[in-house]
Amino acid sequence: MKILIANLGSTSFKYRLFDMDADNAAQLASGGFERVTNYTSCIEEMLESLVGEGHLQSGEEIDAVGFKTVLGKDLSGCVEADAHVLEALEGFKEVAPAHNPAYAAGIRCFAEKLPQVPRVALFETAFYQWITPAAYSYAIPQAWRDLGIRRYGFHGASHKFVAERSAEILGNGIIVDRVRNLYTTGPGEYSGAPLRVLSCHLGGSSSVTGIQNGVAIGTSMGFSPQSGLPQNNRVGDLDSMAIPYVCKMLGLSIEEAERQLNKESGLLGLSGVSNDARDIRDAAEQGNTDAVLATEVLIDSIRHWAGSFFFKMGGAEAIVFTAGIGENDAELRAAVCAGLEDLGVQIDPTANAKAIRGVEGIISAPDSKIKVIVIPANEELVIAREVFRKVSK
Ligand code: ADP
Repeated sequence: MKILIANLGSTSFKYRLFDMDADNAAQLASGGFERVTNYTSCIEEMLESLVGEGHLQSGEEIDAVGFKTVLGKDLSGCVEADAHVLEALEGFKEVAPAHNPAYAAGIRCFAEKLPQVPRVALFETAFYQWITPAAYSYAIPQAWRDLGIRRYGFHGASHKFVAERSAEILGNGIIVDRVRNLYTTGPGEYSGAPLRVLSCHLGGSSSVTGIQNGVAIGTSMGFSPQSGLPQNNRVGDLDSMAIPYVCKMLGLSIEEAERQLNKESGLLGLSGVSNDARDIRDAAEQGNTDAVLATEVLIDSIRHWAGSFFFKMGGAEAIVFTAGIGENDAELRAAVCAGLEDLGVQIDPTANAKAIRGVEGIISAPDSKIKVIVIPANEELVIAREVFRKVSK
């Protein structure tokens, strides 16, 4: 089955073409365009190149197109990308302005260009469908809650992959199947051995999710991808009173405050150096105290959220690190796990140093009660798998 994954930014269009069956995925081709103003011409150029390179005879040969949609009003899951999806994206376009309009436009262009090819939307919120109201509700007036203001959670594809892969690595086949079938049959009942995972997706944007027996029970991300850990340029958790206070004291409009919280905050705002963890580490090594603070705040925030889910799940069998920082920064992983020997966490420094640049591995000592694992993320592959499952059902 040939599955195309379209990754749409407000000015970019990237794609990957996979040849999938139930167990394997082979990437046939990938490419992309920058400074995009019109997705239709990108789709045309992409099809020309896929046909020219011999991957397809024509666009009709694509069995499905998958879209990693972020946030929809009153809609989540892995669903056919139809009029309901467009309506849901439209309904929350103010909350995800960089993503929702781009995906709505892209889905429409594919519908026009390749009307007979099924389109599937995998919402980043999908993994959090089974979180309880107690965990997703904010303590706000009913009228606010009626607008859909609650915790949704993001990086769902990545955390779900962690749920599946960690169960594979730790040899729990029942949970592997449970996670695989989550979006088609729901979680069902589970009575096997517990597998509680503290999943740390640490990249340009970051989140920590508690995963109990393959199902998310809570996440650091909230109503928008603004909350939780400090992100590259985005603020993460902030007391709501800070915004009206700063607007008053600095004479900022709400739009300007929003822009600063989106573009000039997070690791960039704290370090004053860069939004990139590598530059911040280099600056910290040269004695820049703001860069040291940025790294410390990130580590503290990861521990804060992981600690919260450890408590809520009554323990953990595994801590997983994934995404750019999680997969590469061995020092940060060691700092996150430092001093947890009493909880049963013991890092193996040699294994930790080796698990970088896309290398998967268990980085805890052999007798560590809680396993610490590095699992490289591959979001396009994750989406391709979900689209395959959806289309095959
Ligand atoms: P995105 O969330 O944008 O998809 P990634 O998951 O690729 O991004 O993560 C990007 C982040 O990973 C950047 O902050 C980058 O500095 C960080 N990163 C990449 N390589 C390393 C490394 N060797 N050490 C520390 N951080 C790294």
